Amino acid sequence: MKKLLLLLLSVSFLFVSMPASAASPIRVKVNGALQSYDQPPEMINGSVLVPLRGIFESLGASLSVTGKNIKAVHKDTVVHLTIGSAAATINGAGVKLAQKAVVMNGRTLVPIRFVSEALGAEVKWSSADRMVSVSSRGAAQATPEPVPPAAVPIEDMSKIDPLNEKLYKGQALVTFSYDDGFLSSYNNALPLHSKYNMAGTFNIIGGKVYSGEQRFMNSSQIWAAHDLGIEIASHTQTHPFLTSSTEAEIREEFKTSKFILEDLVGEVSTIAIPNSDYNDAVRAIAVEYFDGVRVYNRDTNRADNYDPHWLKSFAVVNTTEFSTIQGWIDRAIEEKSWVIIMLHGITEERLGEYETTPQILGQVMQYINDQGKDKIMPVSTRDGVRLMNKEFK
Ligand SMILES: [Zn+2]
Repeated sequence: MKKLLLLLLSVSFLFVSMPASAASPIRVKVNGALQSYDQPPEMINGSVLVPLRGIFESLGASLSVTGKNIKAVHKDTVVHLTIGSAAATINGAGVKLAQKAVVMNGRTLVPIRFVSEALGAEVKWSSADRMVSVSSRGAAQATPEPVPPAAVPIEDMSKIDPLNEKLYKGQALVTFSYDDGFLSSYNNALPLHSKYNMAGTFNIIGGKVYSGEQRFMNSSQIWAAHDLGIEIASHTQTHPFLTSSTEAEIREEFKTSKFILEDLVGEVSTIAIPNSDYNDAVRAIAVEYFDGVRVYNRDTNRADNYDPHWLKSFAVVNTTEFSTIQGWIDRAIEEKSWVIIMLHGITEERLGEYETTPQILGQVMQYINDQGKDKIMPVSTRDGVRLMNKEFK
């Protein structure tokens, strides 16, 4: 121990005694943490460049690189860069870079100031100690909210069987469709889906995935739900009122949320419309991005009204009791139709207007289970569309 301490002391002494000169390496701190890169930062034409992946990831952005095209997404910001080009965009708006992104020793280096500022961080350069300090705004004062524990740890849950099309003989279908991506849906609905081996769909707001807000699922929880067998679908990027948005805004909502979620889980093919604010104009755009669109209008989906881009659903609110939901299921069984049940957070207290309890959800699943899969089959929105398209289109 003494030896180690001595060693540490001599090593740190070595650093302190080294003068900061023009030859000394450039160092980078992000939110106070000294970064280490396999390719050291470079100063080119007065701009400091750092390895691409390191800087984007330390700022919480998700990154995709296709050929020379670099795309980074963080919260509601999308940044595009091209290696060897001074042209870049931030949320579609063009920006001219003082220094292009370059490749050096097989590593792509990007200008740290541009990247950081584009993602809303502040950048300071100290020439005396050749140090770049990057700080994400609000990163320091973010206080985590208490998180209720998961009912069952994810690693103890068994996976949900994927769709077996052979089991579909035209019987009723049921979909549990959870909006907004609340952590309570993850904590309290997921164990029930696993226990009853029932598919379902989480409709996620793209802008919340990396927001750090504790009441929403984060990227690893979304991935875990996907891995368990839950469909991950879009609920737009910012949860806007789409009928009062411009066409460009609507496209951005669809495209960006799809990009963020697909980066995590692969293909995203359905969406739940926020605020059920939908019309023919929004539908015409949604058709280009999604195979299925869920709205809310208290109806089942049947041969005479089936439209994959206008899927009807019933909403569970905090005054909805089991018997009401049982009525929807009975109706679907009788009609051999598809009933979609819209849910939100799942909490014991159901204080929020759209919340229900794990007890009610469990009762519903038990009831569906008792009817048998030959009477009513639980499916994700994606798989419901797949089966219904075969039947009615
Ligand atoms: Zn919503």
